[in-house]
Amino acid sequence: MDLLEEPGCSRPEEAIDRAFGTSIAGARALCVLSASSAGVLSRISDLGCGGGILFLLVGQEDAPPADLRPLAQQLELPLLTPAVPQDCASLLGEGFALSGKIAAPVLAEVGPWLLDAASMVEFPQGQSASLLDYQRESGRFVRLPGAEKQKIQLAERRKALLSWLEVSPCVTRKGEGETGLIVTGGMAHSVPQMERLAVLQLGMGWPVNLEEIRRFSQSVEHLYLLEKGRYLAPILAEAGIPVEPGLPWAPEETISPDLPARPPQLCPGCPWRGVLYTLKKEKASVFVESGCLSLGAGLLMKGVDGCGAGSPLALAMGFAASRPGKAGKTAALLTAQGWEGCSFAQLGDFSSSRIFAVVLEDAAQPAQLTPQQVARAMDIPIVEADSHSLSQIRDGVRSCMARPGSVLILHGSCAAKEESLPAHRVDRELCTGCRQCLRMGCPAISFPEHKSAIDPNCCAGCGLCGEICPVKAIQKGEKA
Ligand code: SF4
Ligand code: SF4
Repeated sequence: MDLLEEPGCSRPEEAIDRAFGTSIAGARALCVLSASSAGVLSRISDLGCGGGILFLLVGQEDAPPADLRPLAQQLELPLLTPAVPQDCASLLGEGFALSGKIAAPVLAEVGPWLLDAASMVEFPQGQSASLLDYQRESGRFVRLPGAEKQKIQLAERRKALLSWLEVSPCVTRKGEGETGLIVTGGMAHSVPQMERLAVLQLGMGWPVNLEEIRRFSQSVEHLYLLEKGRYLAPILAEAGIPVEPGLPWAPEETISPDLPARPPQLCPGCPWRGVLYTLKKEKASVFVESGCLSLGAGLLMKGVDGCGAGSPLALAMGFAASRPGKAGKTAALLTAQGWEGCSFAQLGDFSSSRIFAVVLEDAAQPAQLTPQQVARAMDIPIVEADSHSLSQIRDGVRSCMARPGSVLILHGSCAAKEESLPAHRVDRELCTGCRQCLRMGCPAISFPEHKSAIDPNCCAGCGLCGEICPVKAIQKGEKA
């Protein structure tokens, strides 16, 4: 069968309907939805499914992952919960097969643990699917008031699902020992290496394969459960499967010691670092868009006051309205897309407000309108600066602070993407140990033996720390 790609849809209802139409026609459909839109699936969950549909429910990186298992149970749609990229490759093919078998859509949770993961994946040998015949069948794809069709379809689906569960490859057992651990979905990443630990990994959030779990519980002396939220625990209690409280390891062992620590910090070479540093020096209050900009609040930089649910313009205006002393010293930081997405009313309020905006024009992530076009359309004064030049940023920030309602447009993108920039190095003879460069909040800089050092494997070569070193001890290194 040919692979057809449909362009993105602006609303989840539209995406669901396109996938549903594709499956009614007898083809397979893969539809990616944000996990927060999954409730919309109730509109089609009890209808049939022609060629098969797989809905990937993608969590948001900056939001705590929602527990999708109660929703899957309510919709009576099976939920796959892959833990690692390889599971995606293996389980998703299984998901299509299951969808065809039970004549219903199948859900698959793509949590933050998968969005952040990068690893080699082996795809199973090519499986082909042919376009199914289509014949109009009353009540199969249309919900009719009082019709028995859906009830019969649902009863058949439950039966098919139960028989599939018995042979499902979505439950895997690893290791042997008297201590047993049941792990759900992405929680597999929190299991440390332990001897004599038998792990039952559940690759399916709903339905729960109680028989498999019961067999596992009978093969171990102590049974523990590691799940996100509290969904499975009461089900096991009701089924009389005894689970011990807590976990079979001390809390500090939860993260494998083999993994490098990745505290939430702005990356080396981030184009936001210079302006966050400058705003902090100028004692400005800073409000940011959600997303990676909020990492500016991390311990190394500590440069952000708040991050709201929508536009930081509203957040900053609300803050400045209540603190007259902060007039002119409150900034909202936005990406070009965030700036473009502000309503006319919001930009109108902003232009007469006590705050100023900083917008990053990143060539790698362009908006439809340039930040300048948006500002000119609303008569908002513009100041521009290079995101990797501290002197330009300082002049730009001061100019905007003197003129609330203006915007500082920064040019530049992540320095790490520019291959021509060599890592910087510290001349330890020159370094006086004044620690000023540490204020740049760059994770590539450390302070061993009372002097600064730069990790050449981590430094992106943006040059900002070199600009603030009073004795010019930080210099460009050699190109790799
Ligand atoms: S040049 Fe300095 S601030 Fe820039 S990435 Fe390297 S160490 Fe960090
Ligand atoms: S700013 Fe310069 S002198 Fe001060 S600690 Fe850093 S490298 Fe050393």
